[in-house]
Amino acid sequence: MTTLRFVLGDQLSRNVSALQDIDRARDIVLMAEVREEATYVRHHQQKIVLVLAAMRHFAASLRAEGIGVDYVPLDDAGNSGSFTGELRRALARHAVDRIVMTEPGEWRVWEMMLAWGRDFGVPVEIREDDRFLCSRTEFDRWAAGRQNLRLEFFYRYLRRQTGWLMTGDEPQGGRWNYDVENRKAIPRDLRIPTRRRFAPDAITREVMALVGQRFADHFGELESFGWAVTRADALAALRDFITVGLPQFGAYQDAMKTGEDWLFHAALSPYLNLGLLGAREVCEAALDAFRNGAAPLPAVEGFIRQILGWREYVRGVYWRQMPAYANTNFLKANRDLPAFYWTGQTGLNCLRECLAATRRNAYAHHIQRLMLTGNFALLAGIAPAQVEEWYLSVYADAYDWVELPNTHGMVLHADGGLLGSKPYAASGAYINRMSDYCAACAYDPKLKTGPKACPFNYLYWHFLIVNEEPLRSNPRLTMPYRTLARMTGERRQQIVAETQAFLNGL
Ligand SMILES: Cc1cc2nc3c(=O)[nH]c(=O)nc-3n(C[C@H](O)[C@H](O)[C@H](O)COP(=O)(O)OP(=O)(O)OC[C@H]3O[C@@H](n4cnc5c(N)ncnc54)[C@H](O)[C@@H]3O)c2cc1C
Ligand code: SF4
Repeated sequence: MTTLRFVLGDQLSRNVSALQDIDRARDIVLMAEVREEATYVRHHQQKIVLVLAAMRHFAASLRAEGIGVDYVPLDDAGNSGSFTGELRRALARHAVDRIVMTEPGEWRVWEMMLAWGRDFGVPVEIREDDRFLCSRTEFDRWAAGRQNLRLEFFYRYLRRQTGWLMTGDEPQGGRWNYDVENRKAIPRDLRIPTRRRFAPDAITREVMALVGQRFADHFGELESFGWAVTRADALAALRDFITVGLPQFGAYQDAMKTGEDWLFHAALSPYLNLGLLGAREVCEAALDAFRNGAAPLPAVEGFIRQILGWREYVRGVYWRQMPAYANTNFLKANRDLPAFYWTGQTGLNCLRECLAATRRNAYAHHIQRLMLTGNFALLAGIAPAQVEEWYLSVYADAYDWVELPNTHGMVLHADGGLLGSKPYAASGAYINRMSDYCAACAYDPKLKTGPKACPFNYLYWHFLIVNEEPLRSNPRLTMPYRTLARMTGERRQQIVAETQAFLNGL
C-alpha cells in the first residue's frame, strides 16, 4: 500500500502524526508552497520567508533520512496556487491507496480537508494533532457543563494532569500564581541581554529573494530577517532564552522599553507554532532550569502558565467555539482600522514604537499586543474582523487558532467575556507605569483634557460611557463605573466631544 502523506507548513515536526508509521520504501510525503496560503491575508514578508524556508529545510531533512518527498515550490511552472489543486496534481503523479494528514490549525483549512475526503475518490485519514498537551477531546471533556471557561481553572487542571510544579495535589511553593511579583517596570540601570538571531543561509536567502519579488507589497521589512528556520537553530534559540531570558521573565513580563524588542520574552512562538519546537520540550527545559537553580519559581511558573495555560487554553476555546466564535461582536464595534496600523505614522509614541518593532521583526511581545495596539483598538471601537485581519497579517507566529481567541476574546471582548472576565481597557497611566514611552511622546499621560492630553485617557472613559449598557453589570468593572457615576454631566460631554474629535481626525 502506498500512502501520500500531506504535511502542511505549520506541521514541521518529525513526530507529527501524519508521519508516524511512515513506510520509507513506499510512502511519499507531499509538501506544497501555495500562493493562496501566503495571500488569504497579506502576511508580513518575514512570516512568508519563515514558513517557506522552514518547509524547504524540513523537506531536506526528510530526504536525508531516505524519505521520498514530492516538494512543490512556489515558482514551480504548474503550481496551481492552492492546497486542493496541489493534492489533485499529486494524485495524478502518484498511484496512491490513501492520503494521510494531521488536522490543521485553522477552521478554514479544516473545512477544505473535509471536502478532500469527499472529492478525491481516495480514502483520506485526518489524524489528531498530538503535539499539543491537551487534545481537543480532553478540552471538550473539561469544558462540558461549565458555565464559564476560565483560564485559571483549566491551567490548574493541566498542572495536576502533568504534575509540573506540583507537590502532591498542591502547587509547589504553595501558590498557583506569582503575578504580584511579576508586574515590575524595567529599572533604568537593568542590563537587557542581547538575543540570539540567525543569519540566513543560502536556502533562506533564495526564499527571501522570491518573497521580495512576489510579495513586495506586503507589510514589513524583509532584510532584517533573523529567525531560525531549522530545528537545530530553534533549539539554540530555546537554550539562549533559558539561559539569558527565563531568570528575569517573570519579573518583567508586563514591562515595555524603548528600543528593546525582546526584553526577557522567549520569542519562541513562531517555532512552537510551526512545529520546529514542541510545547512539552520547551516547558521541560524551563522546569529543568528551576530544578537546577538557574531560574526562580515565579519566573518558571509565569512561563509555564503561558504555554501549558494560555496556549493550550486558546486552542481549546477556538476549536470548541468555531465557526460561530469569529462572528460575534458583543460591543458592536464598527469603526475602520486606522491607516497608521499599517504605516506606523502616529503621534502616539507608544503605538509608534510597537508598530516599528512589528514592521522590523514581525514580532511584538505580548504586553505590546495587548495593552498598546489591542487596547487602542478596543477603546476606539474598531470592527473586530479588521483588527483580527491585522494581527493575523503582521506577526510571524500568527495562525487563526491562536490569533483569533487572543484578539477577538482577550483584547476586543467581542465574545462577551467567554475568554476573559473583563476587557483589558487601560488609560495612559498604565502605559506610563509599565514603559518609558511617555517621556518621548507629544502627549502627556497625566493630562486628561486639552490638546496635549494622552488620547488613551479620554478614550478610556469614552469606552466606559458608550459601553455602559453591556458592561456596567460586570463585577470586575464596579470601581470604574462607580467613578464614572460621580462624574459631572459636563465632564462626560467633554470626554465624548474630545474623543469624537480625535477619532474623526484619525
Ligand atoms: C492581540 C493578540 C494577538 C496574539 N496573536 C498571537 C498569535 O497569532 N500567535 C501566537 O503564538 N500568539 C499570539 N498572541 C499571544 C502572545 O502575545 C504571543 O504568543 C507572544 O507574544 C509570543 O512571544 P514570545 O514567544 O516571546 O512569548 P512569551 O511571552 O515569552 O511567552 C512564552 C510562550 O507562551 C505562549 N503564549 C504566551 N501568551 C500566550 C497567549 N495569550 N496565547 C497563546 N500562547 C501564548 C507562546 O507560545 C509563547 O511563545 C497574541 C496576543 C494578543 C494579545
Ligand atoms: S502619553 Fe499616551 S500616547 Fe503618549 S506614549 Fe504615553 S500612553 Fe502613549
